[in-house]
Amino acid sequence: KLHNTIQELKGNIRVFCRVRPLIVDEEDNELAHSVVQYPQAGELVGHGIDLVQAEGQKYAFSFDKVFGPDVSQENVFEEISQLVQSALDGYKVCIFAYGQTGSGKTYTMLGQPDQPAHKGLIPRSLEQIFRSSQALQCQGWKFRMQASMLEIYNESLRDLLVTPKSDSQKNDAPGIAKQYNIKHDNLGHTQVSELTLVEVTNWREVSSLLRQAAQSRSVGKTAMNEQSSRSHCVFTLRISGVNESTEQQVQGVLNLVDLAGSERLSRSGATGERLKETQAINKSLACLGDVILAIANKEQHVPYRNSKLTYLLQPCLGGDSKTLMFVNIAPDSKSLHESLCSLRFAAKVN
Ligand code: ADP
Ligand code: MG
Repeated sequence: KLHNTIQELKGNIRVFCRVRPLIVDEEDNELAHSVVQYPQAGELVGHGIDLVQAEGQKYAFSFDKVFGPDVSQENVFEEISQLVQSALDGYKVCIFAYGQTGSGKTYTMLGQPDQPAHKGLIPRSLEQIFRSSQALQCQGWKFRMQASMLEIYNESLRDLLVTPKSDSQKNDAPGIAKQYNIKHDNLGHTQVSELTLVEVTNWREVSSLLRQAAQSRSVGKTAMNEQSSRSHCVFTLRISGVNESTEQQVQGVLNLVDLAGSERLSRSGATGERLKETQAINKSLACLGDVILAIANKEQHVPYRNSKLTYLLQPCLGGDSKTLMFVNIAPDSKSLHESLCSLRFAAKVN
């Protein structure tokens, strides 16, 4: 009962925290010891997480859910499958992964799509959506799905599904020079001029798009000397459904967003391009936080226009749309400061 009341107060925004296991290098490092205490002993999933400093100082946080390092991809998906399903019912859904580079954002979002145990949210969500939409056919539903994938780097957009027209263009970063124009139509969809939308009917097609996107990302990486961890990667599935017997219509959207690494500028080093880049990332992550906070507080003015990412996702943030933020945490002691920053960010929007 109390839980219900809390959920009503908070509207459609949830925050889940996921702690990844120590990885081999960290285990080998004698100094590295886990500084994170997640769900109570013996629990895989809980609500509380503590960060403990060497001097014993403890910082306690709580979230809608906290997943410890032994929680499998499958178990994480179980907790969000209903949210994914609601996109088929016509809801607009955004799922974000926030955290420093190396904290497990890409593992959570994409994982290893070809390995059953390590598939992340994108493959699992798409498989479920295709399966459910097929099952709904016998009730008269017909669905049309379109996928797009783009990257936002330094506040500019890059279409990841553009196919280079000839071999000689292979070395150009696809779509980089274009001025994309973002508009919102009256169906509540975002229209990005010239963005590639690909009709998809099964997981295999999506999987080949993901491969294509990964390829464009790596091409862009050498062309611009950037790292994929410095950009936001947005996968969008638009779902239009019509029921031929009842004439009902639904327009759902599922956005799965692997955010740029949230790490702060180290005081030394960063100058010029690198400085500009880090400032752009910090600004756009802060804008995302501001937007979610404004929605959660039901404020009159939501500052969507302050960043490309929030402007792009505007129709899918707020109103009756549903938002889930994963805050990914690395458990090692070297990451303590960044983990604390991430948890504070997440606690603010929770
Ligand atoms: P990020 O995208 O935040 O930079 P990654 O998703 O690439 O981080 O994760 C960093 C490393 O940790 C990768 O090798 C990844 O496979 C591994 N990893 C992350 N989360 C988990 C997890 N929950 N279980 C097992 N390995 C993980
Ligand atoms: Mg990543």
